[in-house]
Amino acid sequence: MLSMIPYGRQDISKDDIEAVVNVLMSPLLTQGPVVPRYERALASYCGAKHGVAFNSATSALHIACLALDCGPGDWVWTSPNTFVASANAALYCGANVDFVDIDPKSYNMSIECLTSKLAEAERAGCLPKVVIPVHFAGQPCNMPAIYKLSNKYGFKIIEDASHAVGASYTQHSNGADSHQGSLGRNIKVGSCAHSHISIFSFHPVKIITSGEGGMAMTNVPELAERMRRLRSHGITTDPSLMHERDKNEIWNYQQVELGFNYRMTDIHAALGLSQLNRLDYFIERRRSIAKKYDKALRGLPIITPWQEPTSASSYHLYPVRVDALWTNKTQKQAYEFLKNVGIDVNIHYIPVHRHPFYEFLGFRLGDFPVAENFHRQSITLPIFPTLSQQEHDHILTALSEFFGA
Ligand SMILES: *Cc1c(COP(=O)(O)O)cnc(C)c1O
Repeated sequence: MLSMIPYGRQDISKDDIEAVVNVLMSPLLTQGPVVPRYERALASYCGAKHGVAFNSATSALHIACLALDCGPGDWVWTSPNTFVASANAALYCGANVDFVDIDPKSYNMSIECLTSKLAEAERAGCLPKVVIPVHFAGQPCNMPAIYKLSNKYGFKIIEDASHAVGASYTQHSNGADSHQGSLGRNIKVGSCAHSHISIFSFHPVKIITSGEGGMAMTNVPELAERMRRLRSHGITTDPSLMHERDKNEIWNYQQVELGFNYRMTDIHAALGLSQLNRLDYFIERRRSIAKKYDKALRGLPIITPWQEPTSASSYHLYPVRVDALWTNKTQKQAYEFLKNVGIDVNIHYIPVHRHPFYEFLGFRLGDFPVAENFHRQSITLPIFPTLSQQEHDHILTALSEFFGA
């Protein structure tokens, strides 16, 4: 009997362990040299100018919203098909949250819905200050289109790229984002080519891990500096930013605004930096597992993930859709069947607005029907680099058995 197969799992190597042990034996466990080394390495991998590491992606999202001056009276929009952290970040700043329904094919924020909601908000005088698109399952959102809208309506963009380190998309030279062949430049998620800030997560189920951790990427030096300061209490040691004080007093640092302790330790950074060496291999493994699912599930009454032709997903998740409309089997039956045969499937996502806390804020069932429908159909199958041939076969056999194929 196989042990329970999780939907995601980290892959830790001897080198990863050695990197962590080296920090443990070094003088600085935190605020040492490894955090900036990790920041520079990931920024260079993505093609961004700056990386700012945090103790989680949630902290990074919070600080990104603050760095873009989100506060009471402001609106922040995100996708309902995401983890609660994408929306909570705005609430931490006292801003208001609203959602834009998803596209039924990509499961990402719908550009049509965003376009019409922006026109409506402009008429009502409540345009968002920040929009947070989420690259669901690792498939990049249509960033050129969102960026164009941000220029028209003046909002800022924070990409929640928690699923998408290593993913990329093509921008066509004519500026179009349609599927017109392969001409165009290849853009890595995290390069911030079409956003102000991008956020990665290094939770162990994500693509690379630092235990807990996150990073904000940006090309704007002022935003990087502000995020660094806010991650560490709002304290500066830069003399040019300090307020004038009595020359006879010692002022080697000053708190100039209200920040937090959201720092990543060097222990965590060492793990993340070491994992970065295998990022491309991890993505390759995920893509090959996804391809195998695509092929093997073709004969079953299941909808497999659609791959946008101008982008390359990092396949953080492999969500399939099951519906009694197409068979006489429900999503819940599939979920329970798979759990009972040792496959720890999951659901991504319960739409954020349907959580009791968000209902308490006034959201209702029916507000974002495409995301709600996806929640009633989707099941996340296991996908992670160390998924064995035997485990994969077990999953495929179980699915065939369930559908009586
Ligand atoms: C995992 C995740 C987060 C939160 O990441 P943490 O590092 O656990 O704080 C935020 N948004 C999305 C879409 C995620 O999947």
